[in-house]
Amino acid sequence: AGFQKHMQSSHPTFQAAKVNAWSVNDKSKLVQEVLRMVNDNRRNPYSKVLRSGSGTRGLVGDAYNDEEQESIIWTTNLYLGLNRDPTVMAEATDALQRYGTGMGTSAAASGMTNQHLEFETEFADLVGKPSACLFPTGYTANVGAIAGILGKNDVVIIDQLCHASIVDGARLCGASIRTFQHNNAADLEAVLKSEVSPYHTVMVVLEGVYSMGEGAAPVADIVRMAKKYGALVLVDEAHSFGFYGKGGAGICAAQGVTEEVDFIMTTLSKAMGSLGGVVAASQQHVDLMKSASRAYIFQASVSPADMAAALTALRRLRVDDALRERLWTTTRYMRQQFEEAGYNLGTGDGPIVTPHFADKDKLYAIVQHLYKKGIQTSAVTYPIVEMGRGRLRLICSAAHTKEDVDKTLKALIEAEQEVDIQLAKKQHKTT
Ligand code: PMP
Repeated sequence: AGFQKHMQSSHPTFQAAKVNAWSVNDKSKLVQEVLRMVNDNRRNPYSKVLRSGSGTRGLVGDAYNDEEQESIIWTTNLYLGLNRDPTVMAEATDALQRYGTGMGTSAAASGMTNQHLEFETEFADLVGKPSACLFPTGYTANVGAIAGILGKNDVVIIDQLCHASIVDGARLCGASIRTFQHNNAADLEAVLKSEVSPYHTVMVVLEGVYSMGEGAAPVADIVRMAKKYGALVLVDEAHSFGFYGKGGAGICAAQGVTEEVDFIMTTLSKAMGSLGGVVAASQQHVDLMKSASRAYIFQASVSPADMAAALTALRRLRVDDALRERLWTTTRYMRQQFEEAGYNLGTGDGPIVTPHFADKDKLYAIVQHLYKKGIQTSAVTYPIVEMGRGRLRLICSAAHTKEDVDKTLKALIEAEQEVDIQLAKKQHKTT
């Protein structure tokens, strides 16, 4: 009860963290909203499908009507554009021919090719750990690692902005869940002080880069604080693996804390352009995950083509600094152009560029106008940002060009003007 009181008094966003965008606690409200949408014949405005093309450019259509636009796409996390790399595609095609489409069983029940094994070994080697464990998605990698390692007597302490898969892993293992203020090592210490005990395991979970437009997290500070109290640490590198650190090894490597971090996790669906998840750790921890993680044992393993794509992408990104440089050049150019045009991008410096907007409804309208102009974007709103506000999210990739950036900025300025005019007309009518 004391702890609960501490959380509520010293964590203004504690309630928000509990109902973060991906873990709606009040299901009845969500159900009501969905029913309202169905009754009004409204559909999710983000229900877009790719009719042709891939990743950063293509014919984007509406899932529920014939509308479609040739688009520049800023909504995927294909940071290095490797989903379209000719060698990656050729190796995936070759694996498809050799092994067929699906593995048909879990990795634990012989659903592995040599490529699965090679991927685990080479990923572990790149991030600087002895071993690694593959999962079918990034989501299940977090769920599997946390729930495989911890039990109901343990404690998981997570950054309040951590991804839903981390929250769900923590929930699934039945451990007590605590949060600390975003990126705040001092706040983590307060939580650790009240939770550390010789009778249970404490795990601190954080991300290397959060997906809402910030730069690298202060991972070294958080990790050192966790280690001061003997906690295990898991770092999710979904938005940092491949383009931070030497050879793209990630934020833990970039900030020099590989040794101290117990679990380095990433997804195969972002920089590697495939599908799957992986957690690198000590041999004992990997053995434990492979024996105790239900997400590992009871779920089919990564398909042969996806595995070959990821393995080829891993080998390529490890040695190809030019690929990373292309991503960073586009990122810097986009940030500079948008700031010069007067957009507030916050404090971030990474490839997720997020112009801030004071009014979320105006932002939603802008997203729709941009879509019609062939620019595919998304919006970030509460509880990630203050209620009522929003951020436009543009995710840069090495496959985007400066021309894409120029076209997008021009379209955004036009879209904003159009929406302003519409809003002014609406206001005129109502006054
Ligand atoms: N962790 C983080 C931080 C993520 O952003 C995501 C995906 N958005 C995942 C895990 C899950 O990865 P995947 O989509 O490959 O399952």
